[in-house]
Amino acid sequence: MNERKQFRAIKGTRDITPPDSALWNWFERTARDTFESFNFREIRLPIFEETSLFARSVGGETDIVSKEMYTFADRSSSAAEGAPADPGDLISLRPEATASTMRAYIEHGMHALPGNVKLYYIGPMFRRERPQKGRYRQFYQIGAEVLGQSDAPAIDAEVIEMLMLFFQRVGLTRTTLYINSIGDKNCRPAYVELLRAELQKVKDQLGADSQRRIETNPLRVLDSKIPHEQDIIAKLPRIADHLCDACKENYAGLKRELALRGIAYEENWRLVRGLDYYTRTTFEVIAEGLGSQNAVCGGGRYDGLVELLGGPPTKGIGFAIGTDRSILSIQESGNLPQLPGLAVFVAWMGMDAYPTAVKIARTLRDAGFDVELPGEEMKFKKLLNLADRLGARYALIIGSDEVASGTFTLKRLADADQKKLNESELIETLKSERGNRA
Ligand code: AMP
Repeated sequence: MNERKQFRAIKGTRDITPPDSALWNWFERTARDTFESFNFREIRLPIFEETSLFARSVGGETDIVSKEMYTFADRSSSAAEGAPADPGDLISLRPEATASTMRAYIEHGMHALPGNVKLYYIGPMFRRERPQKGRYRQFYQIGAEVLGQSDAPAIDAEVIEMLMLFFQRVGLTRTTLYINSIGDKNCRPAYVELLRAELQKVKDQLGADSQRRIETNPLRVLDSKIPHEQDIIAKLPRIADHLCDACKENYAGLKRELALRGIAYEENWRLVRGLDYYTRTTFEVIAEGLGSQNAVCGGGRYDGLVELLGGPPTKGIGFAIGTDRSILSIQESGNLPQLPGLAVFVAWMGMDAYPTAVKIARTLRDAGFDVELPGEEMKFKKLLNLADRLGARYALIIGSDEVASGTFTLKRLADADQKKLNESELIETLKSERGNRA
């Protein structure tokens, strides 16, 4: 027997198939509309970059860079086809897009643009994590970044306002917004040392990961979800008590600005975020119905990142929404949008009716309706059955009677209500139904 291999999507990747893809498109469309109304503009970025860009910005000690990147040796562009890879040309699939956005900002001299540079991106990211519900190796983010000379708390608050407005518009309302300030280069180093010293005292009671992080990145210990570490962490010194005056004022300003916008939040002193580049404001949104992977957005301020990558002094703040998890949460809540879908199934019978069917299908498509036109003749019963199974709202019946009288029979499939209409009445009827649905 000829055994054929059954191919499957690679572990941690998946297909987004219809009808879910319509939900994804609607989600992304709503993000575009919302962000553009705040004067953000889209940046389309490459999927892969030099590995060292991520190592420098995200941080070589982070899990993302040290163990989760898909990295491979590229042939240098000057080498002949088939020549071995030059190990100096390591490239990685992007694990996040802030680094690429900064690279592009510098490369295109965007600091010379007037006002703040407000960018958003939409696309897949890649991290070699252990797959589980809400955690994939190829996942999707929608992110936004504001770059410029100011670190006014109003900028942070507006970014958060835009984020929460977007979540409201997509019906992701069972959420909690957490905020924190993790200080800046003036006050954080002393706090990190204090934390390290306190952690050393309790080292024996911590798990292997936290023990390692005492050396590499003590702030990350605060992220720990390990049950027996929680009581220990609760007693550690808190950054809020160690902020310098400027950071304290900035954080107070953020809270005033959020209140001005009517945005509810909770403070969470343990919210440090995993990436090295954050300063001052950090925030995260969690949603219900997701189990342990319940963060749907993470963000924060990253003053200094552009400089770190060789650009001019620039302040920045941004966030990344996890699309996969956000959509999972919307689906679990059952709060799904009514998307238009298939409006009309053209049920033509007899070759006499066919030219009329082709013509009206085009007319309706031009008018903005989704139309299915069967390519082969079928019996009436079969046509209506198929229209029903495809989820069409209407069957447009065209037989010899209709051709002779220049009319169409429009049958609403939900209640079998049926009308004979001429072309302009037909379009009017469909348009008014669309208006009622919107
Ligand atoms: P981060 O870039 O780690 O701050 O992640 C921002 C958001 O992206 C998170 O809050 C998640 O919603 C989402 N996210 C991160 N990693 C994954 C993953 N492996 N699978 C699915 N979503 C993810």
